Amino acid sequence: MNRREMLYSTGLGMLSGTVAQAARVSAQAGTTPTPQKLQLADYEPKSMLQVKETHVARSRFPVIDVHTHISGAAVSKNGVELSSERQYFGTPEELLAVMERKNIRSMVNLTGGFGDGLAETVKKYDRAHPDRFYTFTEPSYPQFLDPNYPKLQAQAIEQAHRDGARGLKILKTLGLYLRSNITSGTLVKIDDPRFDPMWDTCGQLNMPVAIHVSDPIAFFSPTDRFNERYEELSNHPDWSFHGGDFPSNAELLEARNRVFARHPKTRFIVLHVGNFAENLGNVSENLDRFSNITVDIAARIGELGRQPRASWAFFDKHQDRILFGTDATPHGDEFPQQVFNDKLYEIYYRFLETEDEYFDYAPANVPPQGRWRIYGIGLPESILRKVYYENAARELHVSV
Ligand SMILES: [Zn+2]
Repeated sequence: MNRREMLYSTGLGMLSGTVAQAARVSAQAGTTPTPQKLQLADYEPKSMLQVKETHVARSRFPVIDVHTHISGAAVSKNGVELSSERQYFGTPEELLAVMERKNIRSMVNLTGGFGDGLAETVKKYDRAHPDRFYTFTEPSYPQFLDPNYPKLQAQAIEQAHRDGARGLKILKTLGLYLRSNITSGTLVKIDDPRFDPMWDTCGQLNMPVAIHVSDPIAFFSPTDRFNERYEELSNHPDWSFHGGDFPSNAELLEARNRVFARHPKTRFIVLHVGNFAENLGNVSENLDRFSNITVDIAARIGELGRQPRASWAFFDKHQDRILFGTDATPHGDEFPQQVFNDKLYEIYYRFLETEDEYFDYAPANVPPQGRWRIYGIGLPESILRKVYYENAARELHVSV
């Protein structure tokens, strides 16, 4: 038996560096080695790959970020926004400074709320800085129990349009949080007919509907050692939709698709890569099936960038239907994959513009959505132009 075989037969070959040395010393001394235990949360491996690192400080073309959260509801309960009152996450001035540096022409603030809060948000951002900010409205769920809700909701959309809203945002509240008694009872289905007048009104007023239903597929699986987003779900246990009375991911997407089919004149921006970035085949099929939908890429470059060849083909095939979005939230430091800062945009630009390999998809020491890294897809200028602003300008009815 040579030295190497001996080490393996005693298990010491599994160890390395100082731990192995310590083990050898204690083995010689006749005591049992104590391997160092490292908590998963403390593990921050540094890649030893020596590969090209391109710093993309500005995007090749001006950007319309169709998916940001500059404001939010002041009051919500069990995942349902209950007040029109808004809280603001960043001032126009501090946002504009980053926008100038990063070549961001416009930010779409999806969570503008409804009623007075919406009007106030439009005034503070859109009207004060024309074409730099566009605000979307949201459903008035507090009115949901009114027998006239379908009509009232359609009228609220008309009022929001008059107040300057450019579109409607549907959060995953619909399908996963909104219940028959608003915050209690059984879950309301995405294709509940009470929303039909709302979808139709958006179509009539040329207001796109930015819709987020479901969530990463791993959020519907048990939070156990097989879950690829175990750490993320451990940090945010309330993000798990496994068990309870939650529908499956497939049921949510089917209900959503019935809405697309029933309202062909309404345009939908299906957020987070069609809410199924793990299955680009499925998203591609839906894009072929429904001519009234587009997708954004917000908070999903972690998914797109770990399947760079499939992503390249997806961008090539659907280049007229993919919009740039980040999910950026000013001061959202708790969620590095969507914190509004220079670094976040540089990562998106690097993913889209370069062929760099194996880099972080979020500005964080530990990849926040799952422990993997991504690869750039190096899109040609013709596609970059469409994704950065042309497709968004068309859907938002603005000229750049
Ligand atoms: Zn979002």
